[in-house]
Amino acid sequence: MTIVTRFAPSPTGLLHLGHAHAALFAEARAHEAAGESPPPTEAPGGRFLLRIEDIDRTRCRGEFEAALIEDLGWLGLSWETPVRRQSAHMDDYAGALRHLETGNLVYPCFCTRLAIAAEIAAAAAAPHGPDGPIYPGTCRALADAERRQRIAAGIPYALRLDVARAARQTGPLAWTDRAKGEQAARPEIFGDVVLARKETPTSYHLAVTVDDALQGVTLVTRGEDLFAATHVHRLLQALLGLPTPAYHHHPLLADAHGRRFAKRDRALTLRALRESGRAPEDVRALAGF
Ligand code: GLU
Repeated sequence: MTIVTRFAPSPTGLLHLGHAHAALFAEARAHEAAGESPPPTEAPGGRFLLRIEDIDRTRCRGEFEAALIEDLGWLGLSWETPVRRQSAHMDDYAGALRHLETGNLVYPCFCTRLAIAAEIAAAAAAPHGPDGPIYPGTCRALADAERRQRIAAGIPYALRLDVARAARQTGPLAWTDRAKGEQAARPEIFGDVVLARKETPTSYHLAVTVDDALQGVTLVTRGEDLFAATHVHRLLQALLGLPTPAYHHHPLLADAHGRRFAKRDRALTLRALRESGRAPEDVRALAGF
């Protein structure tokens, strides 16, 4: 089987060494597959894709997209064209959302962030998930008539996945991480995740799941910080009838003090390293390759 991997940055800042590590890791997995001496009749395995995750129009900038493409090329990476840019494919995500709506698996949530925080603060026990306190499910129980009335009144709302209902429909699910082995999917740890908002009519979870399937990605590589998100992606795959790729979540590259790189570490952007006279090979080595 041809291994297809991808690097999927969001153009919200300049790339740093942690991104370089993730990009080189994804490319290495594709190249190592290509080196597996395929039988002469088969196409060599190993394709590496770049995807621009720019659904959040308030945070993404064209200049950061141009910079990351230039920086990755300077580092010596090459990828297939055309590059998929998520903002150009909103119809694909809308179609997936409609499918879930038709299946009665999403509901409108009218709660403001403030109201959710107040409700959680007032609760005796507020379960936490990987992204913080879990949404208490306030709007899940609203009657249809009430929903229609609020929508007609123009009250803004988000669409949330009814995770318990969805999981009942799919039954138990599993996925495999190359480093950690077989995992039983536990999408409920996030609660009813938001799949769309008015200003961003899709979400990270929905867009990434749809894109990995549409692009034929067979091995999703990304940092361990997104390990838990895969539980939700596995559920969405089952609901949308999409294939399940293999996963390889890698440790995040840390600096000399054991801290993760972040966009605020200006000195360690690829741009700054390059401008300080470092060669691409040096930067690859700093990124662990
Ligand atoms: N766009 C995400 C990020 O910048 C990564 C998405 C993924 O690899 O699933 O962290």
